[in-house]
Amino acid sequence: MHLKSLTLKGFKSFASATTLRFEPGITCVVGPNGSGKSNVVDAIAWVLGEQGAKALRGGKMEDVIFAGTTGRAPLGRAEVTLTIDNADGALPIDYSEVSITRRMFRSGEGEYEINGDRCRLLDVQELLSDSGIGREMHVLVGQGKLDSYLHARPEDRRAFIEEAAGVLKHRKRKEKALRK
Ligand code: ATP
Ligand code: MG
Repeated sequence: MHLKSLTLKGFKSFASATTLRFEPGITCVVGPNGSGKSNVVDAIAWVLGEQGAKALRGGKMEDVIFAGTTGRAPLGRAEVTLTIDNADGALPIDYSEVSITRRMFRSGEGEYEINGDRCRLLDVQELLSDSGIGREMHVLVGQGKLDSYLHARPEDRRAFIEEAAGVLKHRKRKEKALRK
């Protein structure tokens, strides 16, 4: 499984539809300060269901919608589609390619799609829950976050690693079962 492409439309500084294609392996995004590199990472977190405006470096969720520039009017909605190569069947869905779309309007209304079919956020979360990607996973390490990982207490650092490796949910399930 790997990320195949990301399309941004009206998301933050990406007013016009922009598609980034990724190959298997490491992808580097380079560019001057303020050119939108972190916005690309925000788009990945957002399409996977991020609900916190702060985690997306904004004050309110609406801040993900293109706010306009001197030469260009603001837009009414943001839309991001992430396409994942699922040739190895890592995601529990019968498609070799899976596209997740999230759309949000200025009214605050939002919607999700899996391969073009409307769905709930819960469906997106369930689809990704065993894959090691998704909301509240420490697979996205933000600018400045690295320090906090490096300076964490050993037991906290272990929790990060367990979460990234997908062990944490089993530990939580076990703890819950033992409490019953
Ligand atoms: P650095 O190298 O400093 O980390 P960067 O390439 O990561 O820079 P970003 O933080 O991704 O840059 O982009 C910041 C730019 O995105 C700013 O110019 C900001 O005005 C613009 N931006 C953020 N949100 C919006 C929005 N809703 N509408 C229009 N532009 C936006
Ligand atoms: Mg940045």
